[in-house]
Amino acid sequence: MSIATNLRRIKSEIPENVCLVAVSKTKTSSDILEAYEAGQRVFGENRVQEMTQKWSELPKDIEWHMIGHVQRNKVKYMAPYVSLIHGVDSLKLLKEINKQAKKEARVISCLLQVHIAQEETKFGFDEHELEALADSEVIQGLSNVKIKGLMGMATFTDNTSQIRKEFTTLRSMFQTLKKDIPDITELSMGMSGDYIIAIEEGSTMVRIGSSIFGARNKT
Ligand SMILES: *Cc1c(COP(=O)(O)O)cnc(C)c1O
Repeated sequence: MSIATNLRRIKSEIPENVCLVAVSKTKTSSDILEAYEAGQRVFGENRVQEMTQKWSELPKDIEWHMIGHVQRNKVKYMAPYVSLIHGVDSLKLLKEINKQAKKEARVISCLLQVHIAQEETKFGFDEHELEALADSEVIQGLSNVKIKGLMGMATFTDNTSQIRKEFTTLRSMFQTLKKDIPDITELSMGMSGDYIIAIEEGSTMVRIGSSIFGARNKT
């Protein structure tokens, strides 16, 4: 299947108000251009250096989303252009994004990553850490970041009821957080294997890679 065909099929399966982030990590700029020519404008990457390289080569109306784990010393490279950082998993990182955004005279949109999966390896806040962060005064002083919502990854499993349960948990954490931060709007959940369930559970943003571009290249 071509990239354009895959995109068309996925677009037909997701509601219009759900944002499709085409996850292009490990894929070439020419693969991305193929998706771009089919109308796709939002792309997700998980390495700052790779994303910055692609940003420099590709059309400037692309919105670049950082979906991976971010090291603080890399924030400065994407601060001039990144549209949304999905994987904010510490206050230290949020402060660094704020600092670099200020240097660029920008306000950078961020999602807080929540740990909902059973795997230990996935990053993110737990429920208590999230509450503590939302209550902290520090966050109000960060005028160059805008918290737009939450992001999470379900356990990698065939057990769809487990996946659904994790997405339900994330949605309820979103609703709780909304009491403290009323203008959050985004719930980033759902990947190639589970986006249909994620949308049923209230996702506003799905991050889809292999179902668009095929299996990933080894890095
Ligand atoms: C790679 C990745 C995706 C996309 O995964 P697919 O299964 O290929 O759709 C989504 N979210 C994150 C955080 C990723 O790292």
